[in-house]
Amino acid sequence: MNEFVEAVMDVSDSEETITYTRIDNGLLSKIPEENRSKIERHLLWILRDHHIRFFRMSSFPYKDLTDYLESAGRGLFFAFCPYCNRTYLLSAGTSKARVNKNPSVCVYCADMGPYWKFTSSMTKVGKLTSLLDHFEARGQGKKRELGRVILEQSLVMIATVIEVFLRDIYAITLNMRYVKPGTSLVRRFYDDSRNDFANIGKAKAAFKKDLDIDLNKMLSKESRVLLEVLMAKRNTIVHNNGFVDETFIRQTGSSAVKVRIRKLGQAPELKEQVPVSRDELDLYLRMAEELFLVLGRKFRKEFENIVIDKLIAFVEEHEVTRRYV
Ligand SMILES: [Zn+2]
Repeated sequence: MNEFVEAVMDVSDSEETITYTRIDNGLLSKIPEENRSKIERHLLWILRDHHIRFFRMSSFPYKDLTDYLESAGRGLFFAFCPYCNRTYLLSAGTSKARVNKNPSVCVYCADMGPYWKFTSSMTKVGKLTSLLDHFEARGQGKKRELGRVILEQSLVMIATVIEVFLRDIYAITLNMRYVKPGTSLVRRFYDDSRNDFANIGKAKAAFKKDLDIDLNKMLSKESRVLLEVLMAKRNTIVHNNGFVDETFIRQTGSSAVKVRIRKLGQAPELKEQVPVSRDELDLYLRMAEELFLVLGRKFRKEFENIVIDKLIAFVEEHEVTRRYV
């Protein structure tokens, strides 16, 4: 699957995007010496071919790749989508009049990547909790009820964002490492791990066994415990209307978790409503941020190494196509 995608849109260079890597001197300098000039030549050939066909031009006015990158007025990106496992080139001009989509999402499968999903969902959590100013949790009657609903739903959202982030990183890392280019098993990895990732113990075990990533070593002790408390409370809210059941007692059975719950305030007994406070949500948000930073950084490093190999393979396949077609 080697494609050239012409886009008239803005392309973000934001840290939150993953699919698009800008082709510039920084990226080219990471390509091993023995491949670099060949890669540059072939990229230029692809661009020339495309330029003449797409713009119906009779000639290609750029003398080399650097000249193209500096003069064409179009950003050139190598796209590798870890979700659909496709690689392609994207040339993006910026015409404000036609900007209506953010190309930070893959042009084929529209996935926006783990980072952007995480940060935009957390922004929504912030908006939701800001409603608590209007429905004070400690107010009376209806206000108190609404406050409780917002607290519960914010907690569920934070837990879901973490769950989605972990499953995304898990599925795309497997896809990226082991699946043949151009085919994707992300859905399969995602669906197979559906039940595991609501249970943080199983999620950690899957990371360790399948990816050799030890989440326990990456997180501080405080964050590890908070993650367990959060997931146990989330399950109670979603599955038992927020009332402590045997599952909650079992999931929060370790002494570190028990101590943490007591520190958060009231420790609930069987059949009592599980307590949730705004201060507690802030602690979960900080823990989520820590997880996002350490695991996100680890994934990005692996991704950036793979991108270079993908770019080399992409250009080589083009060469073969050129020779035989
Ligand atoms: Zn894709």
